[in-house]
Amino acid sequence: MERRIRFSIWYAVAAFLILSAIQTYLNSNVEEIDYSDFRRSVAEGRVKKCAIGPEQIRGERVRQGGGDQQFTTMRVEDPELVKLLEGNKVQFTGRSADDWFRTILSWIVPTLIFFGLWAFLSRRMSGPVGGVMSIGKSKAKIYVEDKTKVTFNDVAGIDEAEEELKEIVEFLKTPDKFKRLGGRIPKGVLLVGPPGTGKTLLARAVAGESGVPFFSLSGSDFVEMFVGVGASRVRDLFKQAKSHAPCIIFIDELDALGKARGINPVGGHDEREQTLNQLLTEMDGFDANVGVILMAATNRPEILDLALLRPGRFDRHVVVDRPDIKGREAILKVHARTAKLAAGVDLHTIAARTPGFVGADLANVINEAALRAARGDQTEIEMKDLEEAIDRVVAGLERKSRAMSEKEREIVAYHEAGHAIVSEVLPGVDRLHRISIIPRGVAALGYTMLLPTEDRYLMTREELLRKVDALLGGRVAEEIVFREVSTGAQDDLQRITKIAESMVKDYGMSELLGLVSYNTDRVSPFLVGFPMSGEKRYSEETARLIDAEIARIVNEAHTRVKKILEDHRPVLEGVARVLLEREVVEREEVSRMVAEHASGRIAREAGA
Ligand code: ADP
Ligand code: MG
Ligand code: ZN
Repeated sequence: MERRIRFSIWYAVAAFLILSAIQTYLNSNVEEIDYSDFRRSVAEGRVKKCAIGPEQIRGERVRQGGGDQQFTTMRVEDPELVKLLEGNKVQFTGRSADDWFRTILSWIVPTLIFFGLWAFLSRRMSGPVGGVMSIGKSKAKIYVEDKTKVTFNDVAGIDEAEEELKEIVEFLKTPDKFKRLGGRIPKGVLLVGPPGTGKTLLARAVAGESGVPFFSLSGSDFVEMFVGVGASRVRDLFKQAKSHAPCIIFIDELDALGKARGINPVGGHDEREQTLNQLLTEMDGFDANVGVILMAATNRPEILDLALLRPGRFDRHVVVDRPDIKGREAILKVHARTAKLAAGVDLHTIAARTPGFVGADLANVINEAALRAARGDQTEIEMKDLEEAIDRVVAGLERKSRAMSEKEREIVAYHEAGHAIVSEVLPGVDRLHRISIIPRGVAALGYTMLLPTEDRYLMTREELLRKVDALLGGRVAEEIVFREVSTGAQDDLQRITKIAESMVKDYGMSELLGLVSYNTDRVSPFLVGFPMSGEKRYSEETARLIDAEIARIVNEAHTRVKKILEDHRPVLEGVARVLLEREVVEREEVSRMVAEHASGRIAREAGA
């Protein structure tokens, strides 16, 4: 916003300078001469024509050196003038008021042009928000049933959330039934869940199913606005909504607007606070039985201002969680409706291979697979397309063209083989699915895809430790083979540290520190392992203990993993060799090699 204001100041300055320049230019041609000089020129026959005004005479004469020249001169009371002009055959006319017409032309017309240009430009710059004229007008888009066309059939895998919202649809369709029974419908429904789980989709489905007007706007629309505009927009929106009741107001990305007040370290954002206050006021000012239902979505409930969550405001929370395996299959089916799948495609397998994927990722998988099939001139999408699409969605675009030096490739191969073997050898670790050293995206040079044995909600201490071991496998393999380490393990190490830190601080899994949670932050339930920095409740001494415990967990894991990999050195070499040769290794092959190695060693030990 500030940018636009600064822009218009500079524009005004520039326009003024240009106008002045035009003036100077126009006037520079006109010379002011003495009346006596004028008379002499007429007498010498050098004046071609002139116009006589009440105070000034303007005209054109031939310069003494030749060439035409514009001139003006003050008029003097001179009864002889007309005779003199006629005598010298000068063409002359009279003029009424002096210069006003010219002044208008030279100042006002360019000013109008500049103003028009400015209005045009500022409209262009502000884009869809509209020009200066539409300040305060709510830009809420109104979707009506036949426009959204989204129904609950398009939503899958988030059944619980869907059920809760069906109740609201019922109310909007037959409000009388609810009112007769004395039921109170919630005023505000907050959809909470990680990005891409279908919150926006669900809200649109509610509108589509209930067939009422649907006022939708995004919290981020409010952020870049003139001071006071956000608040007036909110007022406007509620006014419109009330006159269209029953209807739904949907505020997407509520966190952009509803961030806790005073949490912003870079000086308070007054504009946002004003908007938020207005929203709170409006929410208090209407009765849900009017038929206006407020819905909002956020993926960061923990930063919302608590006032928004109070009873009478967004008091009903609907969690839209990541889908489980059945849910993923259902979502895949929804998106496969419009895609041509080959007979052999088994969406259950795809669902099993995509734990942690949200609806948006799965939609993306189908889309990628369709693109790939089209590129290969296939008529149907086959299983291999889907598999490849998963890899893409997981790790970004495959970029075979990215040149990796032979040495780099070797390091990556051993690194990935290390992960693979550790997770194969340890019981209960997420089973690995396949490993690959094909470079994908920017960050992950190669990657080992681990397949959780089942969707997990709880993990034991042992399981967390094994997860740490598996993550450490890559780095330790590099150490053993090359006796030096590369930077490629950065991401692994970060994840390891986070797990260890959570074990100590959140889960009470350290004997030394006991069953105290040292985390005082409001942690997002969707960002496990990403603690926000907050106030510490513990002493410096405890902080040191925590650090020591984290280091101990990681060091012990290091010793364990080193032993495992040294014991499996031949397997490590074997897997790395296959990887260098073929770039991908499937899980079965790694298991087979590990099993062969084990039986070989048992045989050797028996023979010794
Ligand atoms: P959010 O608002 O939660 O970030 P969106 O609703 O914008 O997620 O989802 C983006 C897209 O992903 C949707 O348009 C839809 O194509 C797909 N999608 C997400 N969740 C689901 C779901 N549960 N069922 C079907 N499609 C989904
Ligand atoms: Mg959304
Ligand atoms: Zn790694």
